[in-house]
Amino acid sequence: LTYLSQIEDFCPPRPGIKHSSPPWHQKPHAYTEKVRSHHVSYKMLVFLTSPSATLQVLLYPGALAGSVGQRFEAMLKRGGPLGELVQWADLSACLTVLGHNLTFSTSQHQLHSLIGAAPGQGSCPIQRPLTFDLIYTDYHGLAHLQGAMGLAFLHYRCCFRILDSFGTEPAFNLGSYTRSHGYKTLWGSWGLQPLQYMTMFPHTPDNSFLGFVSEEAVREEAREEGLEAGAYKKDKIAVVYGKQDYMWQGKSEYVGVISEELETHATVYQPPGHVSNLPSFITNHGLLTQERFLRLVRRAKVFVGLGFPYEGPAPIEAIALGCVFLQPRFDPPHSSDNNDFYKGKPTTRQISSQHPYAEAFIGKPHVWTVDANNKTDVREAVRAILHTEVKPFTPREFTCEGMLERVHAYITHQVQSRGFSIPLFPESLQNFCSKSVPTWPPESALRAHLGPLGQSCVEVCRRSSHVCEPALFPHLNNPAAFNRLGIGCSSTKQEVNHLFPSYSPWGRHCGLQQEPLLFSCAGSDPSHRRLCPCRAPLPGQVALCPDCL
Ligand code: UDP
Repeated sequence: LTYLSQIEDFCPPRPGIKHSSPPWHQKPHAYTEKVRSHHVSYKMLVFLTSPSATLQVLLYPGALAGSVGQRFEAMLKRGGPLGELVQWADLSACLTVLGHNLTFSTSQHQLHSLIGAAPGQGSCPIQRPLTFDLIYTDYHGLAHLQGAMGLAFLHYRCCFRILDSFGTEPAFNLGSYTRSHGYKTLWGSWGLQPLQYMTMFPHTPDNSFLGFVSEEAVREEAREEGLEAGAYKKDKIAVVYGKQDYMWQGKSEYVGVISEELETHATVYQPPGHVSNLPSFITNHGLLTQERFLRLVRRAKVFVGLGFPYEGPAPIEAIALGCVFLQPRFDPPHSSDNNDFYKGKPTTRQISSQHPYAEAFIGKPHVWTVDANNKTDVREAVRAILHTEVKPFTPREFTCEGMLERVHAYITHQVQSRGFSIPLFPESLQNFCSKSVPTWPPESALRAHLGPLGQSCVEVCRRSSHVCEPALFPHLNNPAAFNRLGIGCSSTKQEVNHLFPSYSPWGRHCGLQQEPLLFSCAGSDPSHRRLCPCRAPLPGQVALCPDCL
């Protein structure tokens, strides 16, 4: 019950849901109302009231530690990236609400005392058992952990969860494969289970989608002002998304067209004494605190993307506050082959616009993707937006309930046999320490599809409104799976190849995967037809499925 009251603090009740009086948690029947109002699943209530499930969790954002941390921190007040911090804050809040014991550290020195080898007699350190069930960190933190843990790093690596905004595809994950197949990366190659990487958006289902909670604090304020639930009074203004001067380079004409139709505001950091390079028609507020930033966005009709930063939280917040997000299309798409920002990142993704999630998962009327070099296209889009009434919208997976539900599902089903003593649902697990076939999601969720040449399983499953589910690959990785789809294989070979299982029509060869770490939803190749494990998504919560909660 204490945990449930914490949920109430973290997730204010939805508008229109009446509070029971006396307090809901003193009346047994109020559970039902609580569950309905917060969409908190029954299994979650069971979990929250189960004291045996408390985990010891270490949060170690390596990007904030040591010299990297000093540089990161110095940038924060100058328009540097804030997205990762949004995610760390929300993850900490979720784990606390779910009742776990957290230790948060950004000190490399402290890391040694928390998990390092203890000094032994003579020069030999003594390995001590890990006192944490789970360690959340990032790529920088992984290197620090390796330094602190020595050989124990390999033993305990299944306890790690890596916050990795842009994702790590399996082809970049295995050092030997990455080197021999030319998948160059500055980051990957740690040989973890791809699902141990946790992303900001659902990029490739090979990784776990962690996400964040889209700010709804300003909505509270609107409610206090007596505005109808979910409605905001909009001024005829646009707010441009771009905290630093360089993001505006070459964008004057695009922003100029928008400012012909709307008063245009910005929140660009300006160092003291700096002469602004922004066009004169822009009202610049300087970098704002998040509260003031969201207050400004709440008044705006349009939130304007300049093309950078890529895939951040702010557009999701703006859409939640009733803005339309207008953003540039990238043709050709940006990728690690042609773009400095993505170069060296362990992904082959083709970025079709500034915010592909907003484009593909939300779309019109909330998101308009335009050719920013075509003034007519931009002008017509802005005029159409001005004639459209758009309600605030938050995809369920970015609400606090959605994130709680997801984090809870991961904690319950993605386990490590070391450390996690009593799994709540022992029959449905992904055990990152063992080579056993995952039993979550259940095999009954599997919908097998054979894709066309050149398509990845991400695309193949999406075309049938499904999601690729890497944990289901082992159920497909056998000759019988090809037979069931009516594919006659002239030969079947097993290989270490991130494109397998797949079918090659030339010679009718079937290929099976030999290395489970290389099962890949993202992999594609013009000469292979991928055999794909698809499953249904839970509406508004793509990381979960109807029969796996
Ligand atoms: N933000 C802010 N002040 C501003 C602009 C943005 O506090 O002037 C917040 C915004 O609400 C969001 C966070 O910064 O939660 C990250 O925003 P963004 O999408 O720009 O991601 P980033 O590129 O910083 O990772």
